[in-house]
Amino acid sequence: MEEEKCLFCGSSLISSQYIALDDVYTCRCPDCIQYSVTQEFKQSNAIRLSQQQRFLVSGYLREMNELSKDVVVIDDGSIEDILNSPYLARTSEERASKFLLYMYRRTRDSGITLHPQKASLSICYATNTAEYDEAVSSLLVTKFIKECSDRYKLTDLGIQQAKKIEEMKVVIPKGGYVFVAMWFSEEMRRVDD
Ligand SMILES: [Zn+2]
Repeated sequence: MEEEKCLFCGSSLISSQYIALDDVYTCRCPDCIQYSVTQEFKQSNAIRLSQQQRFLVSGYLREMNELSKDVVVIDDGSIEDILNSPYLARTSEERASKFLLYMYRRTRDSGITLHPQKASLSICYATNTAEYDEAVSSLLVTKFIKECSDRYKLTDLGIQQAKKIEEMKVVIPKGGYVFVAMWFSEEMRRVDD
């Protein structure tokens, strides 16, 4: 069977299943994790997205999956909602924050390291490797992460910053802008407690 590629990030899908009852495809992707698209969207409308939009959607799907939030079936309507979502990281500061949060959510205070070779653009909503590299180097400069041989490790400073981002809704201090209010919904609090 021919390998099927993810509509959004282009990675080879782990699986893709057509569910006739709902007329949707459920896809498992190593980078976007899991999502469902309508057959109509899959066949025609996904093509209309720009490459940049596709990578933003990939980042969104990954983050929603990692936060265990239900992602709606992707069709012509819901794709607009996703592209307008406040979760999307569009600036270099926001991408750096997403990268930091990704590491923090994975490792908490355990000090486990992340292997950059296994990382994907979707971790920080990067739409190309330059944006990804920029996020990583800004975190190195601010000493929120450090390099340990071929890996990255959260520093104590980085752990504090990640906690601050999750608690205080802010991105990196110099930007000073409010981030995603949705993280602080009652639903999220219950998850965190
Ligand atoms: Zn994907």
